[in-house]
Amino acid sequence: MTDLRLGAGERSGLRLFSVFGIEIRLDISVVIIFALIVFSLGNGLFPQWHPDWSPLQYWVTALGAGIVFFASLLAHELAHSLVARRFGIRVPRITLFLFGGVAEIESDAETPQAEFTIAIAGPLMSLALGVLFGLLATLGIPVDVRALLLDDPQAAVAALGPLVTASLWLSSVNFVLAIFNMIPGFPLDGGRVFRAVLWRVTGDLLLASRVASTTGRWFGWTLMALGLWNLLAHKDPGGLWFIMIGWFLSHLAAASYTQLVTQRALRALKVRDVMRTRFDTVPAAASIEDFIENYLLRSSQQLWPVLEAGRVAGLVALRDVAGIPLLERPRRRVTDVMVPLAGASVLAADALASSALNALLAAGDEPVAVVHEGQVVGIVRGSDVLRWVTLHRNLAGQRANDLQA
Ligand SMILES: [Zn+2]
Repeated sequence: MTDLRLGAGERSGLRLFSVFGIEIRLDISVVIIFALIVFSLGNGLFPQWHPDWSPLQYWVTALGAGIVFFASLLAHELAHSLVARRFGIRVPRITLFLFGGVAEIESDAETPQAEFTIAIAGPLMSLALGVLFGLLATLGIPVDVRALLLDDPQAAVAALGPLVTASLWLSSVNFVLAIFNMIPGFPLDGGRVFRAVLWRVTGDLLLASRVASTTGRWFGWTLMALGLWNLLAHKDPGGLWFIMIGWFLSHLAAASYTQLVTQRALRALKVRDVMRTRFDTVPAAASIEDFIENYLLRSSQQLWPVLEAGRVAGLVALRDVAGIPLLERPRRRVTDVMVPLAGASVLAADALASSALNALLAAGDEPVAVVHEGQVVGIVRGSDVLRWVTLHRNLAGQRANDLQA
């Protein structure tokens, strides 16, 4: 139903197969929704339509319809993915999950036109499938049953075979999918289409996202209110579904916007913008004892550049000296245990913070020296990048707010 744009590396579930070079995965939550759909068809709708069918007929038809329903969801996601690829955006995998599918489209569209085309491709696919299954059902209805349709619709439906019955249901759910997804609330497809139009008109992606995300939240709240009303006034447990989907959508709408602002903020950010430039050095000739007592223990700094003849020759940290026996500490010098700068893992000051972030966090948030033209110019940790985002995120959002007002 919705198309989350997950970051690369986030994957879950079971690998099914590959199609057009895109890996198709199945989240475990799909098993629950699949069972619910098959159960409601085999135990509710089909017995109602076909009082004369055997239980075997109900369940086989329900199972088949359920499988084709998930194939329809997959076709919807594939439509997004293949169009995205035409615009040069990589789509490594699609994951089917509780509320539909997730196409992992690696980056956001660069132009409103691309965003519009990618977003509308999915609902158009669902619409086409709705028409296709509708046609199949219409063609499959025998002539004598057709005559019966107007006089006694119930008897006519009861006379339909399993294939026509399944096609009728698949036609209606694909139409519902197309319509539901075109509701103009971000991050639904309709919200993306809406955002692309606003983006085209205003030329401001952030402003467009803000408005589309707000309508997305409104829509989520409306669904929750409808669900609550259904639950309380009509004692209809189906209201719980509305509450759940509504909550999910309003949450997603807010989260997608925050994610976009963060990505935008990080986009041009370099390591030099987030690194700590205030740091002390230790002379290469200092003894280990001197380093521990007068440098390491007197400061919160964890990584120390070692200064030799006015230049940083290497780096030394707590882990490099912790294992040295007490008696040896006065005799050995910092230069003996430091990691030479040439062999140390460092970051370039002009590297992008976004690309450094993952490596920094993966390394357990350890401090890393930042170098420029052979000199250490700063020290950075993954949490420094996150701290920068926390401090600057509101600025980007504020700017969008100002424009909106
Ligand atoms: Zn979609």
